[in-house]
Amino acid sequence: MDGGLRRDAEFPLTRAEALDRLRDFLPRAGADYARLRNVDHGPGQHDHVSRLSAALRRRLLSESEVVAAVIARHGLRGAEKFLSEVLWRSYWKGWLEQRPAVWPGYRQALARAEAACAADPDLARRHQAAIDGRTGIDCFDHWMGELAETGYLHNWARMQFASIWVFTLGLAWELGAALTLRLLRDADPASNTLSWRWVAGLHTTGKAYLADAARIHAMTGGRFTPDGLARHAVIPEDSIAVPPATSPRAHRRPDPTEPALLLVTPEDLSLETEAAMARLDIRAIAALPPTTAPDRRAMADALDRAGAHWGLSPSECADLSGLVDLARRCGARQIVTGYLPVGPEADRLSPLRAAAGAAGIALAEHQRDWDVRVWPHCRKGFFALKEQMPRLLAGLGAADG
Ligand SMILES: Cc1cc2nc3c(=O)[nH]c(=O)nc-3n(C[C@H](O)[C@H](O)[C@H](O)COP(=O)(O)OP(=O)(O)OC[C@H]3O[C@@H](n4cnc5c(N)ncnc54)[C@H](O)[C@@H]3O)c2cc1C
Repeated sequence: MDGGLRRDAEFPLTRAEALDRLRDFLPRAGADYARLRNVDHGPGQHDHVSRLSAALRRRLLSESEVVAAVIARHGLRGAEKFLSEVLWRSYWKGWLEQRPAVWPGYRQALARAEAACAADPDLARRHQAAIDGRTGIDCFDHWMGELAETGYLHNWARMQFASIWVFTLGLAWELGAALTLRLLRDADPASNTLSWRWVAGLHTTGKAYLADAARIHAMTGGRFTPDGLARHAVIPEDSIAVPPATSPRAHRRPDPTEPALLLVTPEDLSLETEAAMARLDIRAIAALPPTTAPDRRAMADALDRAGAHWGLSPSECADLSGLVDLARRCGARQIVTGYLPVGPEADRLSPLRAAAGAAGIALAEHQRDWDVRVWPHCRKGFFALKEQMPRLLAGLGAADG
C-alpha cells in the first residue's frame, strides 16, 4: 500500500470506509476513550481516537448516526466523553452560524497578519521556521511534520501546537489557523477558526490554553522534552469585532412538488440517507469541481451513491452558469442542496441564488434535524449545550443506557 492509500484507510474519506471505522472503533468509544483519548503515541498509532473527523466534517457519516451507534453500544453515561466531543463539532458550527460575520472578520484579520509578516523580515523568518518545522521545539517540529505528511493531528496535539504557536513563538493565531485549514484532511471553518481562538484566549474571555512541557512529556510517552515554552499566556488583542448572536440564517426549503437538480457539495455528502430528500423529484445530479484532494475523493464516492440511489448519471459542472444551464435543460424548478454553513463553500456558491433566480429557478437547502435541534443551544458557552445533551440525544431517537 502506498502512503496515500494508507492515509485514506486511516482517515476515512468514503462512506463505506467511515462505516467500517465506526464499527471497528465502537468498542473503544466508552470508558477506553474517556481514559486514553489524550494520549498521543504518534503517527499510525492514534487508535484511542476515532479518526472519523474527515468523514464527519463532510457528512459522509452524520453526527446522529455516530451518536446513535455509540449510545446503542455504551449508553449515554458510558460514552459521555465521546458524545460530548461530537457535540463540540456541532457547537462550533452552530456558534459560527449565529455569528456569521466572524468568518469574513477572520479572513480580513488574516490578510492583515499576512501583510504584517511580509513587512517584517524577522517575523517572516520566524513564521517560515514554524511552517518548515525548524523551531527547535521538539514536539512542535514533529507535529508540524506529522500534519504536513498525514493531514491529521490528534486533538490534544492540536491544542499544544496552537498554544506554542501563539504564546511561545509569538505568531498571529490567524496565520496558524490558515496553515491548519490548508493542511488538515478534516479542515472545517468553524472547528478550526474557533478552536484557534479558544486556545488563544479569545473565545472564553480571559481563558487561554497554555501548553506545559511536563504534561507534553507525559502524554506523549516521553517522546518529547520541549524546552523554552512560554510560562504565561499573554492573550493577544482580538482582531475581530465579535457581534452578539443572531438567529440562524433563513433559507428556502426543498419543495417535493417541484422538479429538482440535486447539487452535491462537500458540506453534506450523504443526502440520500435523509428521508425528506428521498421524497424529492430529482431530475439531475451535479457538483462543482472539488477544490482539495480529500474533497475530490469524498465527492467521487458521494456522487456514485447519489447516482445509484436516484438512478441518474451525475455531472461535474465547471462553474455556476454550467449548473444553472443543466438545471434549465433537465426541467428543474429548484436546485436543491444540503444547508450551506458559513465558510468557503457558502462563499463560493453565494452568487448561485441570484444566477438561478434570474433563470426562474429557486435555490433550496435541506437542513438536517440535528442542526435544527442543536444550534439554538450554541449561542453561549459550550456548557450551555452540554447541559442539554441527555434531552437532545434522547430526542434524536437514541435510547439512554
Ligand atoms: C487548533 C485546533 C484546530 C482544529 N481544527 C479542526 C478542523 O479544522 N476540523 C475538525 O473537524 N476539527 C478540528 N479540531 C477539533 C479536533 O481536534 C478534531 O475534530 C479531532 O481531533 C478529530 O480527530 P478524531 O476524529 O480522531 O476525534 P475523536 O477524538 O475520535 O472525536 C470524535 C469526533 O468528535 C469531534 N471532535 C472531537 N474533538 C473536537 C473538538 N475539540 N472540536 C470539534 N469537534 C471535535 C470530531 O467530529 C471527531 O471526529 C481542531 C482542534 C484544535 C485544537
